[in-house]
Order: sequence, then structure tokens, then C-alpha cells
Amino acid sequence: MTTADPHPVDQELVRAATEVARTRCRGDNHTMAAAARARDGRIITAVNAYHFTGGPCAELVLIGAAAAQGAYELDTIVAVGDRERGIVPPCGRCRQVLLDYFPTIEVIVGTGDHLRAIPVADLLPERYVWADHQLDTP
Ligand SMILES: [Zn+2]
Repeated sequence: MTTADPHPVDQELVRAATEVARTRCRGDNHTMAAAARARDGRIITAVNAYHFTGGPCAELVLIGAAAAQGAYELDTIVAVGDRERGIVPPCGRCRQVLLDYFPTIEVIVGTGDHLRAIPVADLLPERYVWADHQLDTP
């Protein structure tokens, strides 16, 4: 890249997710780690809770963990796989949930030296916006 990147990657966030993936993932229950930058600057981390009934991805666990710490606005998120799998893009469900919770959140994707932060909306072309289909509250 020879031009300035309009979406600089939050390397500290990538390091945090990588560290949690390396040190906290275990067995088949916890195979993915996520880290998010809250609006107030804090970094929130979480791991997935796999279960065959539909256990939540790390991104979804993170949303709840963040709320439990009073962080309701997240600006950037990244997920990293265990066994040195590197950054893993969010699944379809997580893309939709992230869009509905945090319409302007950016998601870090890519590999190696080619990481980039992409608005979640760009990961969902022709997206469904849940709020657009709700009746107005009186
Ligand atoms: Zn997911």
C-alpha cells in the first residue's frame, strides 16, 4: 500500500484476540477468541461457547461480556482462531447481529500483513436491517 489507509487497523486489538486465542481456548468448547474496542477505549475479550445446540460464537459472547462491563458501544471487533489459525471473519449470523447492535462497527479481516478494517455493513451486501421492519413505538 502506497497511500494512507483510511481504516488503520487496531493492532492492539489483534494482539489481544491472538493472546486470548493462544492462552484461553481449550478443547472443542472454546476454539475462537474475539476482542473489541469499546467507545471509551477499553478492550473487551471473549471466547466462544461451542455447543451442538447452537452455542454462541466469540463475537456474540463478547457482546454480552461487554454489556456486563457497561460497554454498550463497540467501535471495532476482530476474531482469532485457536491453533494459530489467525484472524477469522465473522459468520453470517454474527455479521447480522453486529450490524443490528452496532451499525457503524468495523470488523478486522485479512491475513498476515494484509489486515484491514471494514464497516460491517460492507460485509452484508443487500443487507436486511431489522430496525427498518419494526413498528414504530408510540
Ligand atoms: Zn458467528
